Amino acid sequence: MGTEELLERLERDGVEHLWVTYHDYSGVAGAKSVPKERFRSAVEDGIVFARANLNFDATDHQPPDAHLLADSGDFLAVPDPDSYALLPHYPRTARVHTWMRLEDGSPWEACPRTRLLTAIEDLRDAGFSARAALEPEFYLLVPDGSGGYGPANRARMYTQTGLALVDGLVREIVETLGEMGVAVSQFDKEYGVGQYEITARHAPPMKAVDDYLSLRQVVRDAAREAGYVATFMPKVYAEWPGNSLHVHLSLWDPSGGRDLTPSEADDTSLSDVGRWFMGGLLEHAAALTGLGSPTPNGYKRLQPGSWAPGNVYWGRGNRSGMIRVPGTGRRRHIEHRSGDNTCQPFLFLTGLLAAGLDGIRNETDPGPPFEKDIGHVTPEEIREAGITDLPRSLPEALDALEGDRVVAGAVGEEALKHFLLIKRHEQAQYDLHVHPWERDAYLESN
Ligand code: GLU
Ligand code: MG
Repeated sequence: MGTEELLERLERDGVEHLWVTYHDYSGVAGAKSVPKERFRSAVEDGIVFARANLNFDATDHQPPDAHLLADSGDFLAVPDPDSYALLPHYPRTARVHTWMRLEDGSPWEACPRTRLLTAIEDLRDAGFSARAALEPEFYLLVPDGSGGYGPANRARMYTQTGLALVDGLVREIVETLGEMGVAVSQFDKEYGVGQYEITARHAPPMKAVDDYLSLRQVVRDAAREAGYVATFMPKVYAEWPGNSLHVHLSLWDPSGGRDLTPSEADDTSLSDVGRWFMGGLLEHAAALTGLGSPTPNGYKRLQPGSWAPGNVYWGRGNRSGMIRVPGTGRRRHIEHRSGDNTCQPFLFLTGLLAAGLDGIRNETDPGPPFEKDIGHVTPEEIREAGITDLPRSLPEALDALEGDRVVAGAVGEEALKHFLLIKRHEQAQYDLHVHPWERDAYLESN
């Protein structure tokens, strides 16, 4: 869609308020609402935000060594018409995602959406396109009035009861997303008490990320309206299963007409390019963890022996691994399982595509599958299979990201600098915090 088409569409849909939105390095949507009279200038030239906004962390603190201070000027948020969607929960309101541009209108290297576009173009120049489907898990909670939260219900996993107890909410979410142009492929009751999962249908990577962001927003809005709090944080309570963001990936020809991921030779393997792409994801696993799980909290989820991966290997029917190749026949594709919903999704997908492309270029062999649940094998067996650990902490993962030529290169120097600044600051704040566990263990112990 072009600029004029977007303006016509806004008129036709009766939109009077346009939320012009960008996503910061925590993946959080920043927005300004623009009234109808200003649509043309907002759509053609973009609107102004302070660059300094991009150097605040998840708790709205600016690190003392921030690069973008109050004197760092502005960036322009220029709408991408293709990301247009109505916001049915807000009357006469629509949203549009944006490119961050320099004040002269040229692309800004710090822009996550622009970085993803570049990764998509690199893949196309190599003769491929990709499709992605993002599958977030989340909890529906009820505040208990004293600062804690309880689950929305006690329904068991994957049950009809789990759907029945929140039926109105499920319909609201799926139908609202439909009005926004997001096709939901499934909604289910996950393993944890009060935990659910929703998947959008696979799409080209930019649309897949836009759809995912719509999905997260609609789940939150609809849950709030129904009296729940929806949370996507990786580990809400130590004893509850974590919330993942599984990314389903497949490789296609440049026109997107032919799926190149499955092998033609049999019904269960991947093609050479599919295997090499997966080899690249395994090779760059540590750096991708820095992008996919960028909070201290995420490392409480990535534990071996849970259904969240703690090690680097792939398997077919194995949900304990970092990569699963699900299905047979045309359904075969690559499911990347370590990421969570605190990622910056444009940068995370950028990293995944760049790592996969690097695998294709170097014909990286992913090795044989490991088909056992890693929580139930001996350390010797793990060693013999040559299986390594995923980073065990955020600092380890961020160092790996910084040191990975391919993934850091795709994120780009400027975006990476801001991303690392914020994430390391968040870790530093966390490290100063005294955890209730510490009082339980030490307060009266010595
Ligand atoms: N909840 C698990 C995680 O945090 C994933 C469960 C699943 O396989 O869907 O990774
Ligand atoms: Mg799941």
